[in-house]
Amino acid sequence: MNRFLLATRNPHKTREFSEILGEEFVVRDLSAEPDAPSIEETGTTFEENAILKAVAISKRVPGLVVADDSGLEVDALGGAPGIYSARYAGPDAKDNDNVARLLLELRKLSIERPYRARFRCVLAVARDGKLLDTFVGVIEGAIVESPRGIGGFGYDPVFLPDGLTETFGEMDPGEKNRISHRASAIRRLRAALLK
Ligand code: IMP
Repeated sequence: MNRFLLATRNPHKTREFSEILGEEFVVRDLSAEPDAPSIEETGTTFEENAILKAVAISKRVPGLVVADDSGLEVDALGGAPGIYSARYAGPDAKDNDNVARLLLELRKLSIERPYRARFRCVLAVARDGKLLDTFVGVIEGAIVESPRGIGGFGYDPVFLPDGLTETFGEMDPGEKNRISHRASAIRRLRAALLK
């Protein structure tokens, strides 16, 4: 059986990993490791932050550790919220606060729609404090005018993938998990782990 620890306390990420990887993999997360430290994300890129988390946690916990650092990049906002996606509306912001701030910032601009955006996911894999590899996944799309759908998490209700008519918040979770940034990065990770 293939197994790893996912260095997150975000249950939405863990659920997506489990659904995408299926029964071939056992994915635990930090909810099973209450003593694991919270790692400050001091990097300036998704890659740096994913590596920080994977390496730091793998110094404390035996076995393979995978960290996911991900977020939304909006062209009209110069790539924001980017690495600050989880805390765009403040340190304790909830998903709907972050979405509200995003829509507010876009309304302030005098730029015509569509607002081009992408989700980016970087996975870092480490063992015993050493980085083994990184994997990237991206999905391109646009930000809609107001939230649509209650599925997923984060910015899903305002993200419309290119070529589709439903936001990530409206679509079936299975469909998001076939096409998302996280799904592409995880497919690359899976291939490497099975080698
Ligand atoms: P991290 O935990 O520092 O990687 O921050 C991830 C943040 O990016 C989340 O809290 C969401 O705001 C956003 N994000 C990442 N992936 C997704 C996704 O699949 N859907 C919606 N929002 C996402």
